[in-house]
Amino acid sequence: MPELPEVETVRATLEQAVRGETIAKVSLFYPKLIEGDSEDFLSKLVGKQILSVDRKGKMLCFVLSDGLRLYSHLRMEGRYFLGNPGEKDRKFDLCEFDFASGKALYYNDTRKFGRMMLQKEDEPSPFEELGPEPFEMNEEELLKRLSKRKDTIKQALMDQTLISGIGNIYADETLFACKISPFAPASSIDLNQCKAILSNSRRILSLAIEEGGSTVRSYHPQEGVNGRMQNELLVYGKPNFPCPNCGFPLRKKFLGGRGTTYCPICQKQEGRAFVLGITGPIHAGKSTAAKYFMGKGYLLFDADACVKELYLRKDVKRLIQKALGRKTFVGGEPNRGFIAQLVADKKKKKVLESILHPLVIEEAEKFIRQVGKNQKVLIDVPLLFQSGMDALCDAIILIDADLELRRNRIIQEGRDASSLMNLNRAYPLALARKKASWTIYNNGVLSDFVSKLSELPL
Ligand SMILES: [Zn+2]
Repeated sequence: MPELPEVETVRATLEQAVRGETIAKVSLFYPKLIEGDSEDFLSKLVGKQILSVDRKGKMLCFVLSDGLRLYSHLRMEGRYFLGNPGEKDRKFDLCEFDFASGKALYYNDTRKFGRMMLQKEDEPSPFEELGPEPFEMNEEELLKRLSKRKDTIKQALMDQTLISGIGNIYADETLFACKISPFAPASSIDLNQCKAILSNSRRILSLAIEEGGSTVRSYHPQEGVNGRMQNELLVYGKPNFPCPNCGFPLRKKFLGGRGTTYCPICQKQEGRAFVLGITGPIHAGKSTAAKYFMGKGYLLFDADACVKELYLRKDVKRLIQKALGRKTFVGGEPNRGFIAQLVADKKKKKVLESILHPLVIEEAEKFIRQVGKNQKVLIDVPLLFQSGMDALCDAIILIDADLELRRNRIIQEGRDASSLMNLNRAYPLALARKKASWTIYNNGVLSDFVSKLSELPL
């Protein structure tokens, strides 16, 4: 999605290309592109001259003769192409402007989220709905705006009515430069931090404008225009890369549906414990690793004990009985044999998990808050990713070992290897490798394993 520097790059290119052009004909291939009356849009534009191209935040405005303004919001994928009239050959060209000079401008949008709006100069402009850009605001104003918010600082910075021009890329970069956790409550940000946010966002946005914006997987501004800012990004798009400051693996989490990359050490959230997750396939050595970290002072969140306690709660009992039948509880106690039978069915297992997992996450979150700052919490659950508990972790270790080795370890303990290995077949190893901060192989002797764990910066 284009942010201020990308839209500024588009604006500057457009202004050079179309300033002074007179619109001779407009062809609309996707009427929903226009907010308001599309017939009116088409007829009013003909004969108008483009005087200049303006921008505020992430929104463009073609300033036209006769006091008309054409606002264009590129949203996710909107872009402009120059060409000749009647040459529409791209699949997602949504609108064509033919000029009296014989040139044409095409608006292209693969996601079709972009919008255009025609207004008179004396009508309220959509620019007025946008907050000031970082260049136009001081720290007192930002502090005042943040103090009323109920969300996190990252979500607040991305709200275009609060401050305009900052999206996902530059919010991550700015907060990293300020050493502020993206998950910190917006209302907790103090005046000095506001000052840092403004000075860093101005510096980063200015550099990005100079570099022609970022050409990233999610956005490419224009044919033949390649931004270079992606080479300057320090955290965006770099999960699990070492932090440029401290070397700790950068972590990517989702916040309000948007990927958020941060350094768990440099951007530690004030008052919150550090959370380490351990995951891995069966008998790879998770419990050995958990014991090692508990020996180093990590406090274990016991997910199994948590589930046992959940079954004793009346509200949980009601939810489970409603979803899976009254027989799931007998005399107030969970009917474990019956529940075990039920979850052999994949769909029913999912239903049960959809009740339990969010509650376990809620309890884990409470535990993390209660232990307080300067503490370290360990989460050791096999279904770390499937349960969504990875979202609580600042770092994740995947413990892996060769399949044969794991099988032998089970056999040596005198247990049935085949059924345990079957249980484990569903373990999402590829996903875990991709998402974990580190993968530790436990293929050697115990002392080797422990020495590998001791080398981690934990
Ligand atoms: Zn760091």
